[in-house]
Amino acid sequence: MATKLYTHPVFLEHLTPPGHPERPDRLRAIARVLDDEAFAALDRAEAPLADEATILYAHPERHVQAVRKAIPESGIRAVDADTSVSPKSWEAAVRAVGAANAAVDDVFAGKASNVFVAARPPGHHAEKSTAMGFCLFNTAAVAARHAQRGHGAERVAIVDWDVHHGNGTQDIFWDDPSVLYCSTHQMPLYPGTGAKNETGAGNIVNAPLSPRTGSDLFREAFRGRVLPAIDAFSPDLIIISAGFDAHHRDPLAEIYLTEDDFDWATGQLLERAGKSAGNRLVSLLEGGYDLEGLSSSVGAHVRRLMKG
Ligand SMILES: [Zn+2]
Repeated sequence: MATKLYTHPVFLEHLTPPGHPERPDRLRAIARVLDDEAFAALDRAEAPLADEATILYAHPERHVQAVRKAIPESGIRAVDADTSVSPKSWEAAVRAVGAANAAVDDVFAGKASNVFVAARPPGHHAEKSTAMGFCLFNTAAVAARHAQRGHGAERVAIVDWDVHHGNGTQDIFWDDPSVLYCSTHQMPLYPGTGAKNETGAGNIVNAPLSPRTGSDLFREAFRGRVLPAIDAFSPDLIIISAGFDAHHRDPLAEIYLTEDDFDWATGQLLERAGKSAGNRLVSLLEGGYDLEGLSSSVGAHVRRLMKG
């Protein structure tokens, strides 16, 4: 079984204002890296449209309607200070969710050993009722619920190594012990949440990192907090909120990880997926804003996924 890759040209058509870090070039840079023959064995598929009813697993109808209504006929419209939409943003956001759901279907059906979804907009800042931080719908949250409702998963672990805390995912699962949310992130940094004492129903594990943290302390946090929580939880599926903005080149934060750290963390999570989850692991692109750091990190991450 191969590693599967979902992406779609419409992800290049979700437009943000000039100079915005969350830009279509991010996916072009990833596509260039994954075009290399080292990735020839990837099983490549177009991201399908989601069944829109699944978005309601994580968001109330009024949020979905508010996003739909915000989509302009032309140009770019701001949803908040950081987040905007363009005419194709609806399709992009719905295909991002659709790809994540399809990835869950694939790993439960044994059609892929694991899956990487290269989509935008990202999702982990989207709260139940609030689009924010470049995110419209919380793709990882919908996919976790889809695993539970569509495939009978009892426990899903979401591991978020994006350099920003996934306030949205924490918000959605705050009182739901069937989903474990573990996050490493810089603190202080946007969005301001993610302290150690934010523990939800005992299912939230935050491992904040001080600015200028490098590989050693990141791995220590991962080994000391994230991995033991996963071991104790024994998930049926692991979803990675895979942001690559903790890379040392990234302009939005001051964590100094390298490609090797993403390779290592991927390997650790694959090992856990093998222990309790029948190897089921789905990785969803979140942030990562330096094109070189992003593409080399995604390359390391996907190479490790392909090794299984
Ligand atoms: Zn981020």
